[in-house]
Amino acid sequence: MPDLKLAIYAVSVSAHGRKHAEPAPSGRSEFQRDRDRIIHSGAFRRLEYKTQVFVNHEGDLFRTRLTHSIEVAQIARSIARRLALNEDLVEAVSLAHDLGHTPFGHAGQEALNACMKEHGGFEHNLQSLRVVDVLEERYAAFDGLNLCFETREGILKHCSPEHAAQLGTVGERFLQGRRPSLEAQIANLADEIAYNNHDVDDGLRSGLLTLEQLSSVRLFANHLSEVRTNYPNLAERRVVHETVRRMINTLVTDLISQTELNISKHAPQSVDDVRAAPPIVAFSTEMHELNRELKAFLRTHLYRHYRVMRMTAKARRIIGDLFNAFYEDPRLLPPQFNPSAESERSRAVADYIAGMTDRYAIREHRRIFAIEEI
Ligand code: MG
Repeated sequence: MPDLKLAIYAVSVSAHGRKHAEPAPSGRSEFQRDRDRIIHSGAFRRLEYKTQVFVNHEGDLFRTRLTHSIEVAQIARSIARRLALNEDLVEAVSLAHDLGHTPFGHAGQEALNACMKEHGGFEHNLQSLRVVDVLEERYAAFDGLNLCFETREGILKHCSPEHAAQLGTVGERFLQGRRPSLEAQIANLADEIAYNNHDVDDGLRSGLLTLEQLSSVRLFANHLSEVRTNYPNLAERRVVHETVRRMINTLVTDLISQTELNISKHAPQSVDDVRAAPPIVAFSTEMHELNRELKAFLRTHLYRHYRVMRMTAKARRIIGDLFNAFYEDPRLLPPQFNPSAESERSRAVADYIAGMTDRYAIREHRRIFAIEEI
C-alpha cells in the first residue's frame, strides 16, 4: 500500500478493475501487482535489446528501452510522490509504456507501419496495449496480463479515433475528448523528460553531438555555463553529466510547480474531474518553449544525423524484407506465430516482428536470406 496519504484526485483504487475478475492481492496493492506482472513479462525482458536512437551493438553505455523505461519510472515516481499521487500506478505505466515497440526504434515502427498500410497499420502504443491484453501468454486463466483499467489507459497514450472505436472502454476518452488520470499524464511527460535528456547524453558520448552545437540550446547552455563557472577544472564527461542532471532537475521542478498551479486552478475533487478538465500535468509556458527548442535541436542534429540515417535505412530494409518474406510464405514463421486464420496473417507477422529485439531481427534476416546460414 502507498506510504503517503493520496490526494482526493489521485487514483487510489481501480474503479474499472480487471477484465477477468481475480481475488484481491494480499500484501500489495492492485497497481503493485500490475507492476510486478509487467516486470515478469517476456516483453519487458526484451526491452534490454531494443533501442530508440542507437542500435544495441553500437555501444554498451547507450540507453536501451529497458534503461529508458527505468529512468521514466524514476522520474515519474518522484513527481507522483511530490504531488501525493499513486506512485505504484505511475511506475506500472512507465515500465509498460514501451512494451509494444518494434526493434530499431522509430525507424522500425515506421517501416512496420508502412508494411501494414493495407492491413490496419501498426502503431506502437496500440501494440503495447496488445502485448499486455493479448500477446503475453503466462497465466492459466486468461491471455495477457489482465492489468487494471487505469494501467491500460495510461499505456494507451495516443490513439486514432478509428482505432479507439474498436477498443471499448479504454478507447472512449479519445472519442469523448477526455483526459486520462494525473498518474498517466505524469508518465507521459516523464517519458519526454527522460528521452530528451538521455539523448543529449548519448549523443555527446557517441560524438554525434558536440558541446559547441548544444550551446545554441538555451536549456543546456544556461546550465553548462553555470557548471563551468562553478567548477572550472572539471573533466569534460563530468561537465556533461552535471549539466544533464541539472536540466532534468529543472524540468521536473518546473513540471511539479506548474502542475500544482493547474490543480489549484481546476480544483478537481475526484479522478472524474481530472478526466473532464484540460490537461493538468504540464510545464510552464517558458519551460515548454525551452523544451521545444531542445526537441527541435535533437531532431535536426541527432535523429537526422547521417550516421543515424544509415542505421535507419538498414532497419527499414530488414523490417521490410522480413515482413514480405513471412507474409508471402507464412510457413517460414515459427509454429507458435502461425496465423490460425488467413485473415490474421498480416497481424501475426506484425506481432512476430514487433516482438523481436534488434539483434534477433538482424539474425533472423540472415537466417531467412543468407544461403550459408540455417
Ligand atoms: Mg518511451
